[in-house]
Amino acid sequence: MATFGGSLITVAETHLNEMRAHGERDYPYECCGLMLGQLDGDSRKVVAGTYPISNAREEEAKRNRFLIRPEELMRGEKYAREKGLDVVGFYHSHPDDRAVPSQYDLEHAWPTYSYIVVAVAQGRAVDLRSWEMESDRSRFNEEEMTSSLVTSDKPVSQWVDG
Ligand SMILES: [Zn+2]
Repeated sequence: MATFGGSLITVAETHLNEMRAHGERDYPYECCGLMLGQLDGDSRKVVAGTYPISNAREEEAKRNRFLIRPEELMRGEKYAREKGLDVVGFYHSHPDDRAVPSQYDLEHAWPTYSYIVVAVAQGRAVDLRSWEMESDRSRFNEEEMTSSLVTSDKPVSQWVDG
């Protein structure tokens, strides 16, 4: 029985599938991207789209750590604002590893954002979990995730050819 940190994230199946597909496409490397959406109170987020971005690290390090360049984050934030949304979190994949944030992830995380980790085993997305960092930066707490089949009529996810 998983224990959750009290926060809740709602992600439509469409967007979960976009993150899974991105993780499978970039395997055996880590993929990463932004989650665009809205904050609903202190501890609830609703994801309305994904924004895939490239992995800034060199080939070797791509396998086990991700990095989002500040200019990429700024571009994503601008894109989100144009859609009336915010960047509510980040997603990345763990090739042949669990859907649990690493120590590296913890050291590079920002508070209040959600972090979705997609486990990709042998090129197939097998698990997906969402996390939020404890405010004292000591650990990640798993978020409760609800998946809605209902998504907004206007597509906000941005797909770029990798
Ligand atoms: Zn990671």
